Amino acid sequence: MATIHKNFKFQNVYNRFNLFYAYLTKKSIIKGLPNIFIIETTNDCNKNCLVCVHKNMTRPVGYMEFELFKEIIDQIYLSELVFPFFLGESLLHKDIYKMISYCKQKKLFCSLFTNGTLLNDEESRNIISSGLDHLQISLNAVEEPIYKDIDPSCTFRFEQTIENIDRFLAINKRAVLTTISILSIEANNKKWEETISYWKRKGIDVRFKPFVDWNSNDESIKKFGKPIECKRNQVFPCDWLWRQFHILWDGRVVPCCFDYDGEYILGDVTNNSIREIWNNEKYAGLRGAHLKNNKKISLCEKCRRRKISMMEIPFLILTGAFTALNLRLSYEKKPNFLGNKIHGTDKTY
Ligand code: SF4
Repeated sequence: MATIHKNFKFQNVYNRFNLFYAYLTKKSIIKGLPNIFIIETTNDCNKNCLVCVHKNMTRPVGYMEFELFKEIIDQIYLSELVFPFFLGESLLHKDIYKMISYCKQKKLFCSLFTNGTLLNDEESRNIISSGLDHLQISLNAVEEPIYKDIDPSCTFRFEQTIENIDRFLAINKRAVLTTISILSIEANNKKWEETISYWKRKGIDVRFKPFVDWNSNDESIKKFGKPIECKRNQVFPCDWLWRQFHILWDGRVVPCCFDYDGEYILGDVTNNSIREIWNNEKYAGLRGAHLKNNKKISLCEKCRRRKISMMEIPFLILTGAFTALNLRLSYEKKPNFLGNKIHGTDKTY
Protein backbone atom coordinates (compact mmCIF):
# COMPACT_ATOMS: atom_id res chain seq x y z
CA MET A 1 0.00 0.00 0.00
CA ALA A 2 2.94 2.30 0.65
CA THR A 3 3.64 2.29 -3.06
CA ILE A 4 0.21 3.70 -3.86
CA HIS A 5 0.85 6.67 -1.59
CA LYS A 6 4.34 7.25 -2.90
CA ASN A 7 3.16 7.50 -6.50
CA PHE A 8 -0.31 8.85 -6.03
CA LYS A 9 -1.23 12.03 -7.92
CA PHE A 10 -4.66 13.67 -7.92
CA GLN A 11 -4.39 14.28 -11.67
CA ASN A 12 -4.38 10.50 -12.11
CA VAL A 13 -7.89 10.26 -10.72
CA TYR A 14 -9.13 13.04 -12.99
CA ASN A 15 -7.40 11.38 -15.92
CA ARG A 16 -9.03 8.03 -15.18
CA PHE A 17 -12.36 9.74 -14.99
CA ASN A 18 -11.76 11.26 -18.44
CA LEU A 19 -10.88 7.86 -19.88
CA PHE A 20 -13.94 6.24 -18.36
CA TYR A 21 -16.20 9.10 -19.43
CA ALA A 22 -14.97 8.85 -23.04
CA TYR A 23 -15.56 5.10 -23.01
CA LEU A 24 -19.04 5.36 -21.48
CA THR A 25 -20.17 8.18 -23.75
CA LYS A 26 -18.68 6.44 -26.81
CA LYS A 27 -16.20 9.13 -27.72
CA SER A 28 -13.42 8.21 -30.10
CA ILE A 29 -11.48 11.37 -29.18
CA ILE A 30 -10.31 11.25 -25.56
CA LYS A 31 -9.54 14.17 -23.26
CA GLY A 32 -7.32 12.15 -20.94
CA LEU A 33 -4.08 10.38 -21.72
CA PRO A 34 -3.54 6.61 -21.44
CA ASN A 35 -2.78 5.57 -17.87
CA ILE A 36 -0.80 2.46 -18.75
CA PHE A 37 2.27 2.54 -20.98
CA ILE A 38 3.90 -0.56 -22.36
CA ILE A 39 7.29 0.38 -23.77
CA GLU A 40 9.30 -2.20 -25.64
CA THR A 41 12.85 -1.53 -24.54
CA THR A 42 13.85 -4.55 -26.66
CA ASN A 43 12.17 -7.39 -28.53
CA ASP A 44 15.26 -9.54 -28.11
CA CYS A 45 15.00 -12.62 -25.90
CA ASN A 46 17.40 -15.27 -24.64
CA LYS A 47 14.67 -17.93 -24.55
CA ASN A 48 12.47 -19.43 -27.21
CA CYS A 49 9.34 -20.68 -25.46
CA LEU A 50 6.78 -22.55 -27.51
CA VAL A 51 3.96 -20.80 -25.67
CA CYS A 52 5.27 -17.28 -26.35
CA VAL A 53 4.41 -14.98 -29.22
CA HIS A 54 8.10 -14.17 -29.61
CA LYS A 55 8.66 -17.16 -31.85
CA ASN A 56 6.05 -15.85 -34.34
CA MET A 57 7.68 -12.45 -34.64
CA THR A 58 9.31 -11.57 -37.97
CA ARG A 59 10.14 -7.86 -37.47
CA PRO A 60 13.79 -6.93 -36.81
CA VAL A 61 15.20 -7.35 -33.33
CA GLY A 62 16.32 -4.06 -31.79
CA TYR A 63 16.87 -1.99 -28.67
CA MET A 64 15.25 1.32 -27.82
CA GLU A 65 17.66 4.25 -27.45
CA PHE A 66 17.76 5.71 -23.96
CA GLU A 67 17.10 9.20 -25.39
CA LEU A 68 13.87 8.01 -27.02
CA PHE A 69 12.77 6.30 -23.81
CA LYS A 70 13.44 9.53 -21.91
CA GLU A 71 11.41 11.59 -24.40
CA ILE A 72 8.49 9.19 -23.95
CA ILE A 73 8.66 9.32 -20.16
CA ASP A 74 8.81 13.13 -20.21
CA GLN A 75 5.40 13.13 -21.92
CA ILE A 76 3.55 10.69 -19.74
CA TYR A 77 3.22 12.41 -16.39
CA LEU A 78 -0.44 11.30 -16.19
CA SER A 79 0.47 7.67 -16.50
CA GLU A 80 0.12 5.45 -13.45
CA LEU A 81 1.94 2.41 -14.62
CA VAL A 82 4.90 1.97 -16.93
CA PHE A 83 6.04 -1.42 -18.15
CA PRO A 84 9.55 -0.94 -19.60
CA PHE A 85 9.15 -4.16 -21.56
CA PHE A 86 6.80 -5.60 -24.14
CA LEU A 87 7.75 -8.55 -26.33
CA GLY A 88 11.26 -9.37 -25.16
CA GLU A 89 13.58 -9.84 -22.19
CA SER A 90 14.39 -6.34 -20.97
CA LEU A 91 17.29 -7.37 -18.75
CA LEU A 92 19.23 -7.77 -22.02
CA HIS A 93 19.08 -3.99 -22.48
CA LYS A 94 22.28 -2.30 -21.28
CA ASP A 95 20.33 0.80 -20.17
CA ILE A 96 17.39 -0.91 -18.47
CA TYR A 97 18.33 0.29 -14.97
CA LYS A 98 18.87 3.83 -16.21
CA MET A 99 15.41 3.62 -17.79
CA ILE A 100 13.76 2.38 -14.60
CA SER A 101 15.53 5.03 -12.52
CA TYR A 102 14.29 7.69 -14.92
CA CYS A 103 10.69 6.48 -14.49
CA LYS A 104 11.15 6.67 -10.73
CA GLN A 105 12.66 10.13 -10.97
CA LYS A 106 9.37 11.11 -12.65
CA LYS A 107 7.39 9.32 -9.92
CA LEU A 108 5.90 6.71 -12.22
CA PHE A 109 5.05 3.26 -10.92
CA CYS A 110 7.32 0.86 -12.76
CA SER A 111 6.77 -2.85 -13.27
CA LEU A 112 9.13 -5.22 -15.05
CA PHE A 113 8.60 -8.80 -16.18
CA THR A 114 11.59 -11.07 -16.67
CA ASN A 115 12.12 -14.76 -17.35
CA GLY A 116 14.56 -14.81 -14.40
CA THR A 117 17.44 -16.50 -16.22
CA LEU A 118 19.70 -13.41 -16.02
CA LEU A 119 19.05 -12.62 -12.38
CA ASN A 120 22.59 -12.99 -11.09
CA ASP A 121 23.96 -11.19 -8.05
CA GLU A 122 24.86 -8.01 -9.94
CA GLU A 123 21.59 -7.79 -11.89
CA SER A 124 19.63 -8.37 -8.67
CA ARG A 125 21.41 -5.51 -6.93
CA ASN A 126 20.94 -3.26 -9.95
CA ILE A 127 17.21 -3.97 -10.04
CA ILE A 128 16.83 -3.08 -6.39
CA SER A 129 18.89 0.10 -6.58
CA SER A 130 17.04 1.25 -9.73
CA GLY A 131 13.98 1.79 -7.51
CA LEU A 132 11.76 -0.65 -9.45
CA ASP A 133 8.33 -1.05 -7.81
CA HIS A 134 7.34 -4.48 -9.03
CA LEU A 135 9.15 -7.43 -10.53
CA GLN A 136 7.29 -10.34 -12.02
CA ILE A 137 9.35 -13.40 -12.72
CA SER A 138 7.78 -15.46 -15.47
CA LEU A 139 8.91 -18.86 -14.33
CA ASN A 140 6.07 -20.48 -16.28
CA ALA A 141 6.67 -24.01 -15.00
CA VAL A 142 6.45 -25.78 -11.66
CA GLU A 143 9.24 -28.31 -12.34
CA GLU A 144 12.12 -29.12 -14.69
CA PRO A 145 10.32 -31.42 -17.19
CA ILE A 146 7.58 -28.82 -17.79
CA TYR A 147 10.19 -26.05 -17.99
CA LYS A 148 12.00 -28.05 -20.67
CA ASP A 149 8.78 -28.89 -22.50
CA ILE A 150 7.89 -25.22 -22.72
CA ASP A 151 11.30 -24.30 -24.14
CA PRO A 152 13.10 -27.41 -25.45
CA SER A 153 16.01 -25.33 -26.78
CA CYS A 154 16.65 -23.67 -23.43
CA THR A 155 20.17 -23.92 -22.05
CA PHE A 156 19.08 -22.77 -18.59
CA ARG A 157 17.84 -25.34 -16.14
CA PHE A 158 14.78 -24.88 -13.97
CA GLU A 159 16.92 -25.25 -10.84
CA GLN A 160 19.26 -22.49 -12.00
CA THR A 161 16.34 -20.11 -12.39
CA ILE A 162 15.05 -21.08 -8.94
CA GLU A 163 18.52 -20.37 -7.53
CA ASN A 164 18.45 -16.97 -9.24
CA ILE A 165 15.07 -16.20 -7.70
CA ASP A 166 16.20 -17.31 -4.24
CA ARG A 167 19.30 -15.15 -4.49
CA PHE A 168 17.23 -12.18 -5.62
CA LEU A 169 14.79 -12.65 -2.73
CA ALA A 170 17.62 -12.84 -0.21
CA ILE A 171 19.16 -9.59 -1.49
CA ASN A 172 15.81 -7.90 -2.04
CA LYS A 173 14.46 -8.23 1.50
CA ARG A 174 11.04 -7.18 0.18
CA ALA A 175 12.26 -3.85 -1.24
CA VAL A 176 10.76 -4.64 -4.65
CA LEU A 177 7.30 -6.22 -4.69
CA THR A 178 8.02 -9.56 -6.34
CA THR A 179 5.60 -12.03 -7.86
CA ILE A 180 6.00 -15.27 -9.76
CA SER A 181 3.89 -16.23 -12.73
CA ILE A 182 3.18 -19.77 -13.79
CA LEU A 183 1.48 -20.68 -17.02
CA SER A 184 -1.97 -22.14 -16.50
CA ILE A 185 -1.45 -25.31 -18.52
CA GLU A 186 -2.70 -28.75 -17.50
CA ALA A 187 0.62 -30.06 -16.17
CA ASN A 188 1.17 -26.97 -13.97
CA ASN A 189 -2.42 -26.71 -12.81
CA LYS A 190 -2.21 -30.17 -11.21
CA LYS A 191 0.33 -28.73 -8.79
CA TRP A 192 -1.18 -25.31 -8.18
CA GLU A 193 -1.80 -25.82 -4.48
CA GLU A 194 1.69 -26.99 -3.59
CA THR A 195 3.19 -24.32 -5.86
CA ILE A 196 1.33 -21.56 -4.08
CA SER A 197 2.34 -22.93 -0.65
CA TYR A 198 5.96 -23.32 -1.79
CA TRP A 199 6.25 -19.67 -2.86
CA LYS A 200 4.14 -18.42 0.02
CA ARG A 201 6.68 -19.87 2.40
CA LYS A 202 9.21 -17.63 0.65
CA GLY A 203 6.84 -14.68 0.99
CA ILE A 204 5.95 -14.52 -2.69
CA ASP A 205 2.56 -14.33 -4.41
CA VAL A 206 2.00 -16.57 -7.39
CA ARG A 207 -0.14 -15.86 -10.35
CA PHE A 208 -1.33 -18.62 -12.66
CA LYS A 209 -1.50 -16.65 -15.88
CA PRO A 210 -3.80 -17.58 -18.75
CA PHE A 211 -2.46 -19.84 -21.44
CA VAL A 212 -2.89 -17.84 -24.65
CA ASP A 213 -2.95 -19.39 -28.07
CA TRP A 214 -1.18 -16.70 -30.15
CA ASN A 215 -1.78 -18.53 -33.37
CA SER A 216 -4.65 -20.95 -33.52
CA ASN A 217 -2.88 -23.10 -36.14
CA ASP A 218 0.11 -23.71 -33.91
CA GLU A 219 0.43 -27.47 -33.48
CA SER A 220 3.41 -27.24 -31.12
CA ILE A 221 1.31 -25.97 -28.21
CA LYS A 222 -1.50 -28.52 -28.45
CA LYS A 223 0.27 -30.79 -25.95
CA PHE A 224 -0.18 -28.17 -23.22
CA GLY A 225 -3.96 -28.50 -23.15
CA LYS A 226 -6.70 -26.06 -23.86
CA PRO A 227 -5.78 -22.35 -24.15
CA ILE A 228 -8.08 -19.68 -22.71
CA GLU A 229 -11.28 -18.97 -24.50
CA CYS A 230 -10.24 -16.11 -26.77
CA LYS A 231 -13.12 -14.20 -28.08
CA ARG A 232 -13.32 -10.47 -28.42
CA ASN A 233 -16.50 -9.22 -26.90
CA GLN A 234 -18.46 -8.34 -30.02
CA VAL A 235 -20.85 -6.07 -28.17
CA PHE A 236 -18.52 -3.78 -26.23
CA PRO A 237 -15.55 -1.89 -27.65
CA CYS A 238 -12.10 -3.02 -26.55
CA ASP A 239 -11.26 -1.00 -23.41
CA TRP A 240 -7.50 -1.19 -24.13
CA LEU A 241 -8.03 1.38 -26.89
CA TRP A 242 -9.24 3.83 -24.23
CA ARG A 243 -6.51 3.37 -21.65
CA GLN A 244 -3.32 1.61 -22.81
CA PHE A 245 -0.50 2.66 -25.11
CA HIS A 246 2.01 0.24 -26.67
CA ILE A 247 5.26 1.47 -28.15
CA LEU A 248 7.68 -0.75 -30.08
CA TRP A 249 11.46 -0.36 -29.60
CA ASP A 250 11.76 1.78 -32.76
CA GLY A 251 9.05 4.22 -31.63
CA ARG A 252 6.13 2.89 -33.65
CA VAL A 253 2.82 2.59 -31.84
CA VAL A 254 0.62 -0.50 -32.08
CA PRO A 255 -2.87 -1.07 -30.61
CA CYS A 256 -1.91 -4.02 -28.42
CA CYS A 257 0.36 -7.04 -28.01
CA PHE A 258 -1.61 -8.99 -30.60
CA ASP A 259 -0.02 -6.76 -33.20
CA TYR A 260 3.35 -8.25 -32.31
CA ASP A 261 4.72 -7.75 -35.82
CA GLY A 262 3.73 -4.10 -36.11
CA GLU A 263 1.21 -4.50 -38.91
CA TYR A 264 -1.35 -2.01 -37.62
CA ILE A 265 0.78 1.07 -36.93
CA LEU A 266 -1.10 3.93 -35.30
CA GLY A 267 1.75 6.43 -35.21
CA ASP A 268 5.40 6.93 -34.42
CA VAL A 269 6.66 8.71 -31.31
CA THR A 270 9.81 9.74 -33.17
CA ASN A 271 7.62 11.95 -35.40
CA ASN A 272 4.67 12.97 -33.22
CA SER A 273 3.87 13.55 -29.59
CA ILE A 274 1.99 10.89 -27.64
CA ARG A 275 -0.96 13.23 -27.25
CA GLU A 276 -1.12 13.72 -31.03
CA ILE A 277 -0.96 10.00 -31.74
CA TRP A 278 -3.52 9.11 -29.03
CA ASN A 279 -6.19 11.13 -30.82
CA ASN A 280 -4.99 10.97 -34.41
CA GLU A 281 -7.15 9.79 -37.29
CA LYS A 282 -5.93 6.20 -37.10
CA TYR A 283 -6.39 5.80 -33.34
CA ALA A 284 -9.75 7.53 -33.31
CA GLY A 285 -10.74 5.56 -36.43
CA LEU A 286 -9.96 2.26 -34.71
CA ARG A 287 -12.00 3.30 -31.65
CA GLY A 288 -14.78 4.45 -33.98
CA ALA A 289 -14.81 1.07 -35.73
CA HIS A 290 -15.14 -0.63 -32.34
CA LEU A 291 -17.94 1.74 -31.33
CA LYS A 292 -19.81 0.83 -34.49
CA ASN A 293 -19.15 -2.81 -33.74
CA ASN A 294 -17.34 -3.17 -37.02
CA LYS A 295 -16.16 -6.75 -37.10
CA LYS A 296 -14.04 -6.18 -40.16
CA ILE A 297 -10.92 -4.92 -38.35
CA SER A 298 -8.32 -7.40 -39.53
CA LEU A 299 -6.28 -7.25 -36.31
CA CYS A 300 -9.24 -7.55 -33.96
CA GLU A 301 -10.83 -10.35 -35.93
CA LYS A 302 -7.85 -12.44 -34.82
CA CYS A 303 -7.88 -11.13 -31.24
CA ARG A 304 -6.59 -13.69 -28.75
CA ARG A 305 -7.45 -11.70 -25.64
CA ARG A 306 -9.61 -13.42 -23.09
CA LYS A 307 -13.28 -12.61 -23.15
CA ILE A 308 -14.06 -9.59 -20.94
CA SER A 309 -17.44 -9.08 -19.38
CA MET A 310 -19.12 -5.67 -19.29
CA MET A 311 -19.08 -5.81 -15.48
CA GLU A 312 -15.28 -5.82 -15.49
CA ILE A 313 -14.76 -2.83 -17.75
CA PRO A 314 -15.52 -0.02 -15.24
CA PHE A 315 -13.22 -1.74 -12.74
CA LEU A 316 -10.43 -2.06 -15.29
CA ILE A 317 -10.63 1.55 -16.44
CA LEU A 318 -11.27 3.18 -13.08
CA THR A 319 -8.74 1.21 -11.09
CA GLY A 320 -6.44 -0.26 -13.70
CA ALA A 321 -3.61 -2.66 -13.17
CA PHE A 322 -1.92 -0.13 -10.88
CA THR A 323 -4.39 -0.54 -8.05
CA ALA A 324 -5.00 -4.19 -8.70
CA LEU A 325 -1.31 -4.87 -8.56
CA ASN A 326 -0.84 -3.09 -5.27
CA LEU A 327 -3.79 -4.72 -3.65
CA ARG A 328 -2.60 -8.04 -5.04
CA LEU A 329 -6.09 -9.02 -5.96
CA SER A 330 -6.76 -12.66 -6.65
CA TYR A 331 -3.13 -13.71 -6.85
CA GLU A 332 -3.80 -16.87 -4.95
CA LYS A 333 -7.04 -17.95 -6.51
CA LYS A 334 -7.30 -21.44 -7.73
CA PRO A 335 -6.65 -21.60 -11.48
CA ASN A 336 -9.58 -22.48 -13.62
CA PHE A 337 -8.59 -25.79 -15.15
CA LEU A 338 -10.50 -25.04 -18.30
CA GLY A 339 -8.03 -22.24 -18.63
CA ASN A 340 -10.52 -19.55 -19.48
CA LYS A 341 -10.24 -17.29 -16.50
CA ILE A 342 -7.65 -14.74 -15.53
CA HIS A 343 -5.94 -14.83 -12.15
CA GLY A 344 -4.09 -11.82 -10.93
CA THR A 345 -3.85 -8.40 -12.54
CA ASP A 346 -5.34 -7.34 -15.79
CA LYS A 347 -1.93 -6.99 -17.37
CA THR A 348 -1.17 -9.71 -19.85
CA TYR A 349 -4.55 -10.48 -21.13
S1 SF4 B 1 -6.78 -7.22 -31.11
FE1 SF4 B 1 -8.07 -7.50 -29.30
S2 SF4 B 1 -6.95 -6.49 -27.62
FE2 SF4 B 1 -6.09 -5.75 -29.57
S3 SF4 B 1 -7.22 -3.86 -30.00
FE3 SF4 B 1 -8.25 -5.52 -31.08
S4 SF4 B 1 -9.86 -6.21 -29.67
FE4 SF4 B 1 -8.40 -4.98 -28.46
